[in-house]
Amino acid sequence: MIKLTNVTKTYRMGDITVRALRGVSLRIDPGEFIAIMGQSGSGKSTLLHLLGLLDKPEGGTFEFLGKDIAGFSDDDLAGLRSETIGFVFQQFHLLSRTSAIDNVSLPLIYRRHSHHAANPAGLLEQVGLGERLTHRPNELSGGQQQRVAIARALVNQPVLLMADEPTGNLDSASGREIMELFQRLNQAGITVIVVTHEPKIAEYARRVIHIEDGQIKSDEVRVPGIASAKAVSQLATASSPEVALPPWQEWSRKFWIHLQQASRALFINKLRTSLSALGIVIGVAAVIAMLALGSGAQSSVSKQMAGLGSNRLVVRPDAQNIGGVRQQTGNVSRLTPKQSEQLTERVANIKGVSPEVRTRVQIVWGGRNANTEAAGATTGYLEVYSAKPAYGRFFTEEENQTRQRLVLLGATVVKSLFGEINPLGETVKINRVPFQVIGILPLRGASGPRDEDDVVVVPLQTAMHRLLGKNYYDLINITAADAQSVNQVQEDVLQLSKSWPKLPGTTEGSYRVDNLASIQQAFTAVTKTLSMLLAAIAAISLIVGGIGIMNIMLVSVAERTREIGLRKAIGARNADIMMQFLIESVVLCLLGGLIGVSFGTIVVLILSKITGWGLGVSVLSVLLACGSSALVGIGFGLWPARQAAQLNPIEALRSE
Ligand code: ADP
Ligand code: MG
Repeated sequence: MIKLTNVTKTYRMGDITVRALRGVSLRIDPGEFIAIMGQSGSGKSTLLHLLGLLDKPEGGTFEFLGKDIAGFSDDDLAGLRSETIGFVFQQFHLLSRTSAIDNVSLPLIYRRHSHHAANPAGLLEQVGLGERLTHRPNELSGGQQQRVAIARALVNQPVLLMADEPTGNLDSASGREIMELFQRLNQAGITVIVVTHEPKIAEYARRVIHIEDGQIKSDEVRVPGIASAKAVSQLATASSPEVALPPWQEWSRKFWIHLQQASRALFINKLRTSLSALGIVIGVAAVIAMLALGSGAQSSVSKQMAGLGSNRLVVRPDAQNIGGVRQQTGNVSRLTPKQSEQLTERVANIKGVSPEVRTRVQIVWGGRNANTEAAGATTGYLEVYSAKPAYGRFFTEEENQTRQRLVLLGATVVKSLFGEINPLGETVKINRVPFQVIGILPLRGASGPRDEDDVVVVPLQTAMHRLLGKNYYDLINITAADAQSVNQVQEDVLQLSKSWPKLPGTTEGSYRVDNLASIQQAFTAVTKTLSMLLAAIAAISLIVGGIGIMNIMLVSVAERTREIGLRKAIGARNADIMMQFLIESVVLCLLGGLIGVSFGTIVVLILSKITGWGLGVSVLSVLLACGSSALVGIGFGLWPARQAAQLNPIEALRSE
């Protein structure tokens, strides 16, 4: 069954080398019950670890079930351990906070075959703990805990049971019970190897091997080991090739188990979980809020821009240099009705032309007065500014031509003059001239520091002749036929303007033609940059959150080193351990992500109230947030998980 020939093992710690085993040759047959005895430090545990495939020898040869294990990988050994060996340790190594039955079931996670597993509840019954299935280790006595550990060792129906000082932490009565249990198992066909330094314990064995300073001193068969038929047949089953589960099935099974375990572990450590996920929560909330804010700002800007007119061009006199001082654009107005007509006649693809004059005015109603901007406009204003009145009506072209004294008020003006009173039909005085209120302009909102609702609109002709007494325009709005022709129209208008009389004091072009579409594009670019900046902030907080996760995962790995050692001893492969910790960190991050999404949504709702932008959280941004938190979980969990996976099982078990 096991054959060691001249096996050696040396430990090196800095300059000191300890030759723990110096040439051990040994043959173990099925059905034996062996006690390995010797003083502390003589190499018993080292030998048992080798026999149990937890470690590889340095020199000599080692055959296990007829195969030389020299060429076996870590995972091959883990597989062999899971299929053939059960371990019992002096410190029991039960998972705390886990019920007896779940502890016993643990090795089942790592089996690769669908048959010959024992029933965990039946096993607990067999070791006399049938009533204690759901008890946790801290609710059991030492002897009971060790019996749980023995049941765990038996769950994969091993052919070999190995125990390192199984009674070392027990009182003598419990110790006796454990040894009697081993005896019964041996009689049932399992090969048992027990390491002990107590002669009393060794008495239960059929064969006693003494070692001293890493060498076998005596090997005495007390009761001939009967290679029972059962032992031989069990051995045959164990070494026969078995049908493994398809890999995907095996991994999905493990995935769910690990998911459950991770969720439970995180649930048990509630405070710690929530604190370590805090960074992710904030990061994800930031992602959600930023995305909503970004798109909200963008849509609000384009809404405002639509109010300023799409496909719109504005012609106005350029700034003048008077005595070398550059004046404000449009300071001196020289746009005539004739020029306005030329535009419609000579430039193609123009849908509408709408001249305007602007001036500051004093407006009075009853005892109240306000200072506001008056725009003298034609009916073209209606389309250029999408200014369909919220209440009342716009004036007609005829009313404009006949210089009617009619006015439409912006919301701010209504508020300051009328308060809650309905202004329609009232007469206000603009610069002491009475005007009848016929409509209220639609709500526009503020663009920057400028209040777009602090305005009144009167007919162009009325403004020019009754308010201002001038016969030229301040600017001419042009609406291009469609978006494609805007640039061409701009070019043509500029050409045309060169034939117009030069304004005094200007140098090159006297007129400028502004394309509002390009301003809109510039605005959009600005908001895009803004959202990107905000996204960068979100990314940084996610990275910081990820580092927090990595930190807590490293702590978790360090805390659970013995658990990892145990899992490996009972057959977990490196990939299993890696998966366990990766899942834990991803679950942690996703949890943070979900909380972050709800938190972010609340923030968005509040921001929406404050800005009045009607912000919303899109499905895409939720998916993006969850996806990025899962990625953070994988990215930052990888290193701790690798640390865990690469632990050496013996050293991990020995750690405190
Ligand atoms: P036993 O179980 O008989 O008490 P061990 O097999 O544990 O003894 O150890 C045998 C010798 O090897 C001891 O001298 C011990 O100090 C040394 N030793 C065991 N494990 C290590 C290790 N990981 N690193 C260095 N020395 C070790
Ligand atoms: Mg030992």
